[in-house]
Amino acid sequence: MIHPDRATVLDAAGRELSPTSIEKARRLVAAGRATLVSESPLVVRLHYAVDLPPMPEPAEERPVGEGKTILLHVCCAPCSTYTVERLRELSFAVTGFWYNPNIHPWSKHERRRESLVRYASEIGLPMIWTEGYDMPLFLRAVSGHERFGERCEICYRMRLERTAQVAAERGFDVITTTLLISPHQNQGLIRQIGETVAVEHGVEFFFENFRRGWARRGHLAREHDLYQQRYCGCIYSEWEAGQR
Ligand code: SF4
Repeated sequence: MIHPDRATVLDAAGRELSPTSIEKARRLVAAGRATLVSESPLVVRLHYAVDLPPMPEPAEERPVGEGKTILLHVCCAPCSTYTVERLRELSFAVTGFWYNPNIHPWSKHERRRESLVRYASEIGLPMIWTEGYDMPLFLRAVSGHERFGERCEICYRMRLERTAQVAAERGFDVITTTLLISPHQNQGLIRQIGETVAVEHGVEFFFENFRRGWARRGHLAREHDLYQQRYCGCIYSEWEAGQR
């Protein structure tokens, strides 16, 4: 690079060094330590080579999940397909977590769970299963807040709160949820609740827009013949789907 008020300095091998003042460059030439290459712009070439420090290697970017364990709340097998694939791609050590007391009725809860049992074994996904069915707890929590959106906030919080609690008890670094893949869910609200409960339990919440994998989710769900429920999960969503 040419500096109008500075002289360009080359070493004996022709490599450009830091520019110097016009006076200093002329002194080097006068002292016989450099040769004049060009007057305007002023360029001088030293009679000796200079050991330049080697260029630093560009720092290698480490995958975001490297060395981290993540507890993934799973709402159903189809939504876990792309999500697990992606988290593994990011180098997280993934364990799934089942807690969905919202799912109605019990028979559908079991069908979803059984489908996930099979899929988890197919892809070698370790799972933590919550025993029982907290349906009464869910219905009590949303009582008086049955409107769509209002009840969903409570539903997200119940499931993420339990995920964060179990993650903290079992020493996981990070939590996240398959709910983030669905275009039918309020992703912003899930993220906000996830980050809040994570802080409260001393773990991290991992957010990524998993919706970009929605088409792949559909493909994998068909390929593995996974059970897909036709409504979001709760008794209210079943009724609303029927109305539509
Ligand atoms: S619609 Fe879905 S997210 Fe909302 S309360 Fe029902 S099951 Fe939960």
